[in-house]
Parts: sequence; structure tokens; C-alpha cells
Amino acid sequence: MKTIIEPFKIKSVEQIYFTNKSQRIEIIKKAHYNPFLIKADDVIIDLLTDSGTSAMSSAQWAGIMIGDESYAGSNSFFRFEKTVSEITGMPIVIPTHQGRASEKILFSIIGGKGKYIISNTLFDTTRANVEASGAEGVDILCAEGKIPSMIAPFKGNIDTNALEKFIKEKGAENIPLCIITVTNNSGGGQPVSMQNIKESSIICKKYGIPMFIDACRFAENCYFIKKREKGYENISVREIAKEMFSYADGSTMSAKKDAFANIGGFITLKNEELATKCRNLLIITEGFPTYGGLAGRDLEAIAIGLNEVLDENYLQYRIRSTEYLSEKLVAAGVPVMQPSGGHAVYIDAKAMLPHITVDNYPGQSLVAALYIEGGIRGVEIGSLMFGKYDKNGKLIPAMMELVRLAIPRRVYTQSHIDYVAEVIIEVSKNREKIKGLEITYEAEALRHFTAKLKEVSS
Ligand SMILES: *Cc1c(COP(=O)(O)O)cnc(C)c1O
Repeated sequence: MKTIIEPFKIKSVEQIYFTNKSQRIEIIKKAHYNPFLIKADDVIIDLLTDSGTSAMSSAQWAGIMIGDESYAGSNSFFRFEKTVSEITGMPIVIPTHQGRASEKILFSIIGGKGKYIISNTLFDTTRANVEASGAEGVDILCAEGKIPSMIAPFKGNIDTNALEKFIKEKGAENIPLCIITVTNNSGGGQPVSMQNIKESSIICKKYGIPMFIDACRFAENCYFIKKREKGYENISVREIAKEMFSYADGSTMSAKKDAFANIGGFITLKNEELATKCRNLLIITEGFPTYGGLAGRDLEAIAIGLNEVLDENYLQYRIRSTEYLSEKLVAAGVPVMQPSGGHAVYIDAKAMLPHITVDNYPGQSLVAALYIEGGIRGVEIGSLMFGKYDKNGKLIPAMMELVRLAIPRRVYTQSHIDYVAEVIIEVSKNREKIKGLEITYEAEALRHFTAKLKEVSS
């Protein structure tokens, strides 16, 4: 088989600014060892997130020019609504300015004290919005998903036995929603199988609990279904997506992911009563229901992007380029989550840095080391992001200590990725020298965005 090439040509480029290692040692120290506090110009390869960082196509930029900026009833809204409805099969489409705005609206309505929101794994903003409503977020991930080194096709699956057991235990009346994240971002970008989505929907229906999909990476997930799940080999990704959404009562979406947009999101629904409540809240917090916190031009870019992401040549390249980086790291003995996820490679920092205890944040320590070595910016998905304290102030660590290297869509070429692999392998060779970190400042919610840290002295 020949090399799978980038299925696009580049006609507009952005300069990368280079720094040297001693400059980066100073920069990371000034940024309190938190990659969110580093200036983008001081980053060589930015793998902080794949969110809003995609390169838009020339068709999307052309769409920007024809955006209809009418306050109400904009043309662009109707094109957006039609596209989303066609893909999801859902009749109600509510635009929002990004994924978490959809979550805020949804959970303000259905959440609340004493309630449980179940998921395979709630993403950090999703969990924060669940908890902000007073409800409790419950992750019921399958066993394979919790073992980073284990190879299995659908490590994002929810544990359906545990799901039913939990519902029986807590009572369906206390569970207003089950939301399945595809692909499972916080659990390694791992896909969820169609069978699992179907079984979950059957269980939820049995107890009268609505099931939603957190659809940020729906196309990547559906491509994995096509490649890995029996019976889907010859079905188009578009049709697979339609089937997947058919089992759900609604979805939340960040268009900054699989819609190749720099901003945007939406909620899709089947229930008119819930839609009315959502729209009423939308008007207070986001805007009129035909723009929802977005400009008409953004709605155009999203609509065009949603059709582009279903191009299977693109998806083949996308999934392969992530796998390519993962393969290089595995070959060099770097412990990574296996198999590679759709949008990112996750390094198992706990396995790589056994000399750093969880309360010295091995993931964050590795993030700092990657930046110093090669100007690469990744993000910790571990106890800095998800850690809690018990009554005595002792850290309750996260399930895993991962470093996520998220690959922006259509942005970096193969040589950029080769460079990334070289830097990581170099860091891995000198792993014993990496020092742990301790927190000097933290906010109450989503602390990883603004936390300040320093190297432990010992
Ligand atoms: C990014 C993301 C969100 C939140 O979307 P924003 O646009 O960043 O607010 C929700 N869920 C998942 C799985 C995500 O990846």
C-alpha cells in the first residue's frame, strides 16, 4: 500500500516561531509550569487541543463571505439547521457559541441536586456543568477502557451491566440523562461501538431515561465503527452516523471539533417541550434561536465543515495520522494508550515516570518536559484536571495520569509529526531526570486551566 497523503493542498500558511531550550526553560517557569499560560507564539508545535484549531477549507472561507447576518430568520441558519438535521436525523437544532454553552443550557434544565448524570466518561466541561447544576456526574466506563496498554477495538464503551445496576440502585427518577461521549475524549479518544450505543439506548428506554450523545467527534467515531465493527464495512460513514443518532434522544456538539470550525456548537433534540425550555434559556444566555451566540458566517462554516468531515478520504488520513505518531512511540518503548485514539495520542505518564508520585502530578511534569525539549505543547489529563480533595485535604487522584497530544485537523504535515515523535523519544530517554511539580495556586472549578505550579525541590 502506498503512503496515505494529506487529502488537501495548502494555499495559506502561518509562520512558526522558533525558541531554543534555554529560552523555553525560562518561559515554562514564568508560565508556572502550566501550558495554558504560555503564549502561542512561544510554542513550536501546538498539540494543546484539537478544539477550534482546525484549518478551514477554501469552501468554508467562501461560506464566511456569504454569511447572512440577519438577527432573526437568517438564511445561514436554515442551511445550518438543514445540514445538522440531515446528518443527525433530529428535527430540532439549537445553535450555541460552543459545546459547553449547550451543556450549560441542558444541565441547568435537567440537572439539580440529588440527580445523577451517567456517562461513559464526562468530558471536563461537561462534568463541570453537571456539577454546577448541583447534580453528580457518574462515569461508567467499560473495564478495557481503564487499562491504557490494553488493545481493544471499543475502549470508549459504557459498561452496560454496571449502567443497569446503577439505575436500579439509585432509581430512574433520580437520573435525568445518560450521555455517551463519542469518541471518549477524556478516556483516550477511544471509540464507542454501535452495539454499545444501541444496548445503552435499550436500557435507558426501559427505565424511561433519555439518552444523549456528546457528539463532538461523531465522524471519527463512526469511521472507527466502519473499520472495526462487523457489519459496517460497506456502509458509508454518513449512514453510520445517522444510525448512531437514531438511538439517541438528543445530542450536544462542539463545532470546534468535527465541524472544522473555529467557534460554534449546537444542541439537537427530538422533544419539543425540552426544546422550548432550552430556547428560553438560550435567549437569555446566548442569543436568538436562529443564531445562538454565533454570527451567520459561523453557521455557514459549520454547515460546510459538517459535510466535509464525512469525506472518508479525510477520515482515513485523519485516523491514520494519529496512528502513525502512536506507532512511532510504541516502537521506541514509550508507554501510550493503545490503540491510538481518533484525535490524539495519550502518553501514560504514570508508567513513563514511576518516580513521580500522583500528588506531584506526573502528567503535568511530562507536559513541561515536552515543552522544554522541543517546544511542544500538550495537556495533562490526570489528577491536575480531575483530582479532588478528601475531607482531610488529601488528593483523591484521577483514574489515569495521561498526557494528551491532540492533533489539530488539517494543520500539521507528516514532518511536523516526525519531529514530535523525535522530541518525545528524546524526553523518554532522559525520563529519570524529570522532576515532579506541586501546586502553588488553584481555582475551585476546572483548576487545570489557571493553576500555578513549581518544581518540587528534592
Ligand atoms: C470540547 C468538548 C466539549 C466542550 O466543547 P467546547 O466547545 O470546548 O465548549 C464537550 N465534550 C467533549 C467530548 C469535548 O471534546
